Amino acid sequence: MSKIIVLIGAPGAGKGTQARLLQERRGIPQISTGNMFREMKNADTPLAHEVQSIMASGKLISDDLTYKIVRERTSKPDTAGTYLLDGYPRTAVQADQLEGLATEQGKTIRAIEVDVSRDELLKRLTGRRSCPVCGEIYNIYSKPPKVDGFCDLHSDAVLDQRADDSEEKVTVRLATYDELTRPLLDYYERSGRLKKIDGTGEIEDIYREIEGIV
Ligand SMILES: [Zn+2]
Repeated sequence: MSKIIVLIGAPGAGKGTQARLLQERRGIPQISTGNMFREMKNADTPLAHEVQSIMASGKLISDDLTYKIVRERTSKPDTAGTYLLDGYPRTAVQADQLEGLATEQGKTIRAIEVDVSRDELLKRLTGRRSCPVCGEIYNIYSKPPKVDGFCDLHSDAVLDQRADDSEEKVTVRLATYDELTRPLLDYYERSGRLKKIDGTGEIEDIYREIEGIV
């Protein structure tokens, strides 16, 4: 039976990498609500017009409308088999709505949590630096440059830290994530459909574990 994979993971947990591998190697399409909303800003469909007018008024997109958007997107031929949802559902209400869609599409839902400890997430996010010249990414904890603070390839380029990656910002991002996601994890755990995966190992090992579930 085809599945709807709900991939859940904190910022820095490596969820995006795993979704990309599933898409590349298994052809499982990744349906991201973030991307869909961006595409809708320029699209010319009745649903897109509805979204545009809500965005223009500064209101939030309701759960019902988000559901309609996901439903429309996943009725295309590329999602006839197993597909992966990224950024949806975000709440228990949305998760409940997704049950109806799964039934309608004849699919089962599996939730996968890529679990990484708070300490490790902090290191991954606050340690990130990039070269303003070539874009090379470093991490002061796990992939430090040869000379502290400078790019290996551009010895006079001082490495940048994104404002979003400051310790203060990261702490808020992770707390917000926890608060939003806890009810969702509980929802899938209660119904025995949550699989927790250790997200601290090698990318390939984590991939194999996820592939085993998918
Ligand atoms: Zn460089």
